[in-house]
Amino acid sequence: MTEQTIFLNAKLADGALVDLIVTDGRFSAITPAAERTQATAAATIDLGGQLVVPGFVEGHIHLDTSFYGDAWRPHIPCTDGFDVRERVAFQAQNLAAAAPMAERAKSQLELCIGNGSLAMRSHVMVDGSVGLKHLETILAVRSAYHDLIDIQLVAFPQSGILSSPGTPELLDEALRLGCDLIGGLDPASFDRDVSGHLDVVFGLAQKHGVGVDIHLHDGGSLGLFQIEEIAHRTKALGMAGHVAVSHAYALGDIPADALNKAGAMLATSGVSIMTNAPGNHAFPPVAALRQAGVTVFSGSDNIRDSWWPYGDGDMLSRANLIGYRSGFYEDRELAAAFDVVTYAGAKALRLEGYGIAVGAAADFVAMPAEHVPEAVVAVPGARTVYRRGRAVAKDGKMAR
Ligand SMILES: [Zn+2]
Repeated sequence: MTEQTIFLNAKLADGALVDLIVTDGRFSAITPAAERTQATAAATIDLGGQLVVPGFVEGHIHLDTSFYGDAWRPHIPCTDGFDVRERVAFQAQNLAAAAPMAERAKSQLELCIGNGSLAMRSHVMVDGSVGLKHLETILAVRSAYHDLIDIQLVAFPQSGILSSPGTPELLDEALRLGCDLIGGLDPASFDRDVSGHLDVVFGLAQKHGVGVDIHLHDGGSLGLFQIEEIAHRTKALGMAGHVAVSHAYALGDIPADALNKAGAMLATSGVSIMTNAPGNHAFPPVAALRQAGVTVFSGSDNIRDSWWPYGDGDMLSRANLIGYRSGFYEDRELAAAFDVVTYAGAKALRLEGYGIAVGAAADFVAMPAEHVPEAVVAVPGARTVYRRGRAVAKDGKMAR
């Protein structure tokens, strides 16, 4: 049976006041509110001129390692400056004492959905230390939340690939079990073998026909070299649009001429860049990269885990943070920050049927804001989140 709902008086990003007709979970028509002629038998919801935007895209999160919804875990500092291996050890220690992973992942998912994210990419640890245990749990959670949010999973070698015995085989199995992408982690500083690490990553991507999303924290010329290697391989393998580098801190601390070259290379090879605008750290220059034609998207990354205590699962406040840290003041800049958490994210994640358009999935957020720039600076907490045309959360809380 066809199910139809008409949402009256929705304000779109371009200022148009429209009625949104949703049929079987998709926008079937969008008509000017001023041209409304007749009452209809379909259910109607008056949005009262609220701003309507597509569901946010949470492009980088870790569903398996957050303690959100669990007891507070005080941050443990590294003993002699930041050290990934030491942090991984702290994480293992914390996880051993944590609430069951499925419960924690669900708490985090509901936080994100409540704030308006309806598509997500989560990295999940797959390596010699945990095997496929995390993945099995998160795959089940993904199934349980299928009606509420689209989730892509990245097989993430948190303990390295070459330095963690058995990991290449586990990653292969993870892709067979249902991971959508293959991940990686600092090929140079972690495995100390850029080619060896990328051979495994891109080899598995080719074997399984999946995309790539690599964590790359290495800075300066070491990081830049790896970004170039990833771009070269992406181009050579015809994987444009299927590869992302997450963090890519190097892009934030190299000279302008090197950045220009890197931006052009990333754009032509079709490698997107994920940044969460981290605190107290150089990060990729969002405006310059967008100007160069690079797809820049964002995510919460860690939320209350063993790496840092921050994160609120709200991609609108993430857009605010990106704008704040990037020195964005003009409306067009604030709109760019918003694009990073919506349309650019959808492009990076290769989402189909995204946006407020006829034929697109009716996944949207309604909130009291004059327009997108105001939403980015005000971050209204009052929001209603609609999934396939049905209200699933209001003011941050899941509808039950
Ligand atoms: Zn991450």
